[in-house]
Amino acid sequence: MSANNEVQPIPGSSIEYADMLLLRFGEFTLKGKNRARFERTVLRHVKEIIKPYPGIVLSKEFGRIYAELNGEPAAEVAGALKNVFGIASVSPVKCAPSELEQIVAVSRELLVRLAPAPGTTFKVNARRVWKDFPYGSIEMNKLVATPLLQGYPGLTVDVKSPKLELRIEIRQNHTYIFCENIEGVGGFPLGTNGKALLLLSGGIDSPVAAWSSMRRGLEVECIHFYSYPYTSELARQKVVDLARVLSRYAGVIKLHLVPFTEVQTSFTGIGQDNLIITLMRRAMLRIATGIAEREGALALVTGDSLGQVASQTLPSMNVIGRATQLPLLRPLVMMDKSEIVDLSKQIGTYDLSILPYEDCCTLFVPKSPTTNPNLRIVEKIEATLPGYSALLAEAVAATETIEITPYGDEKPAEVVSVEAGLQEEWF
Ligand code: ATP
Ligand code: MG
Repeated sequence: MSANNEVQPIPGSSIEYADMLLLRFGEFTLKGKNRARFERTVLRHVKEIIKPYPGIVLSKEFGRIYAELNGEPAAEVAGALKNVFGIASVSPVKCAPSELEQIVAVSRELLVRLAPAPGTTFKVNARRVWKDFPYGSIEMNKLVATPLLQGYPGLTVDVKSPKLELRIEIRQNHTYIFCENIEGVGGFPLGTNGKALLLLSGGIDSPVAAWSSMRRGLEVECIHFYSYPYTSELARQKVVDLARVLSRYAGVIKLHLVPFTEVQTSFTGIGQDNLIITLMRRAMLRIATGIAEREGALALVTGDSLGQVASQTLPSMNVIGRATQLPLLRPLVMMDKSEIVDLSKQIGTYDLSILPYEDCCTLFVPKSPTTNPNLRIVEKIEATLPGYSALLAEAVAATETIEITPYGDEKPAEVVSVEAGLQEEWF
C-alpha cells in the first residue's frame, strides 16, 4: 500500500513496538443476519490489502481480525488496513507469555515507550479469557497496576475516563497488551449493498462521491465522458489516475470511457445555448443507464452538491434526474465545498483533481446556463434532434472499458479523431 497512507507514529506511540494488529469491525455488527457474510467480506478485502506483506498471518474471531506482523512494518500496514471499509479501529498489540511476571514486564516496557506526561490519568483493564489463568480479571487490574504506578509516580488512577487505558487480554497461548486505538474508516464492507455506476469527472467532487458510496458498502464502477479532440488525452489519463487512487480502496475499479463528442456537438445548432448543460447531463444519464443495465448496476451516482453550479439547483436536478429510471444517488448533496475538499485530501484524490485539464462540460459551457430549465421544452428539443436515440446508443456501443488496479499503469486506448460533426463555434 502506498506510503502516503502510512500511520505516522505519534511521539510516544507503541506502534513500532507491536507484534500484531487487532482490527475491530464497525457498525454493521448490529446487523445480526448478515454479520457472517459481512465479516467474510472484510476478511477477503484485508487479505487483498496485505498481499504486499507476505509475513503477515491472519486469524479471525467473533467481531475481530488479528494480523500477526512477523516483522512486517506495523505503521505502514496499519495505515493500509485502517482504510478497509467495515473496520472501525486498529490497535497495535504487544504479545506476552501468559504469566504474571511477563505480563507486568511487557506492560512496563510498553509504558516506557509511551512515556506518558506527568499527571496522565491511567487505568489497567484486564480480561481473563483463559479461565485456567490463576488470577481473575479484577485481581489482575491490581497486580499489574500497582508495580506500574510505583515505577511511574506521575500517573494518576482514574477508572472512569482515563487518558491511558492499558488493556490486557489473557488467553491460553498469549496475553495481548494494548492501549492505542487508530480510528478506521468504518462503514459497510465493500459490495455488501450492491453495485452502482458513478459518473466520474476530473473534478474534486465525484471521486469523493465514489469513496462515500464505497464506504456505504456499494461496489462502484465508474463512467467518464470525454470529448476528444476538445478535451485532451491528458484529461482522460487524469480520470484513469483518479480511478487508480479509488482502486486502493476497492482492489480493482472498472472504468467505462464514453466518446461523447458527437452527442455534445449535436446540441450546438439548436439555438438554446442556456439549455446545453441540461441536455448534456441528461444525455450522460441516459448513456450511463444503458451501461448500468449492461453491468447489473442498480443505481447511478454523481458528485452533485445542492446549489453548487447552475446544473445543481433543485429545478435543474429535477429536470436532469428525469432522464433516468434508475435511482440517482448524490452522496454529497448537502455537503459544503470545504467539507468535500477536506475529504478529497484525506482520500488522496485532491492533488489530481486540481490539475488544470479541461472537462467536456467546462469546454462547452454557455455564458448563462439556466438554473431553472423547463422539462417540456427540454423533452421537445430531444425529440426533434435527428437520430438522437441512435446517437446515444452508438456512444454506449463505442464505450471502452478498462480495469484499474492500485499497482497497474493502465492507459486508455488511443482515441480516434472525430472529424465529422465538429462545429467551429464551440471552441
Ligand atoms: P466534479 O468536481 O465532480 O467535476 P462539479 O462540481 O465540477 O463536480 P459538474 O461539473 O457540474 O460539477 O458535474 C456534476 C457531476 O456530473 C459530477 O460530479 C459528475 O458526477 C458528473 N460529471 C460531470 N462531468 C462528467 C464527465 N465528463 N464524465 C462523467 N461524469 C461527469
Ligand atoms: Mg466537473
